[in-house]
Amino acid sequence: MLKKLLAGLVIGVCLMSFSGLGLSQEAKVYVGSKNSTKYHYTWCRWAQKINPNNKVTFNSAQEAKAAGYIPCKVCKPLMRD
Ligand SMILES: [Zn+2]
Repeated sequence: MLKKLLAGLVIGVCLMSFSGLGLSQEAKVYVGSKNSTKYHYTWCRWAQKINPNNKVTFNSAQEAKAAGYIPCKVCKPLMRD
């Protein structure tokens, strides 16, 4: 009885933290490279190829655009926020 309750609690907490993480990754942070003019979602395979020394991060698409970056055609970061 108690075990079942605990398991439910653990699953609930895991789900909550997982969805929270997904949201913040998707909506908030974009990355680009000093060597290119594209910006990406952090999960994009191209974003993961960026050399950490050349990595630049943006808090919004507008910020990236203001810096002269254009959206990646693979992960298609949104322009609206
Ligand atoms: Zn991309």
